[in-house]
Amino acid sequence: MTRTQDDTKVGAGIGADFGNGRCMWDKSVCVDVPTRFVTSDLADGKEAEVFCVRHYVLTLAHLCQVHLPLCEGDFAGHVVDHGELGA
Ligand SMILES: [Zn+2]
Ligand SMILES: [Zn+2]
Repeated sequence: MTRTQDDTKVGAGIGADFGNGRCMWDKSVCVDVPTRFVTSDLADGKEAEVFCVRHYVLTLAHLCQVHLPLCEGDFAGHVVDHGELGA
């Protein structure tokens, strides 16, 4: 998918776009309803992912405990925004 600058803007529309979707946890199949989002700043642009509360916590915990100690970046350099969908 080719993205333009405008396509990478996320925020207000996350709940509307993903509210009826699936938890995007990729290490196992999860059918829980996503209620939280994490917007990451990746090399190829910002990416919003939605998770159930359990995998939201695990995603942030994995970033802090496993990834950040091995990475030059800090939390704010990886996660642009995170929180409750529709809040
Ligand atoms: Zn999940
Ligand atoms: Zn990193």
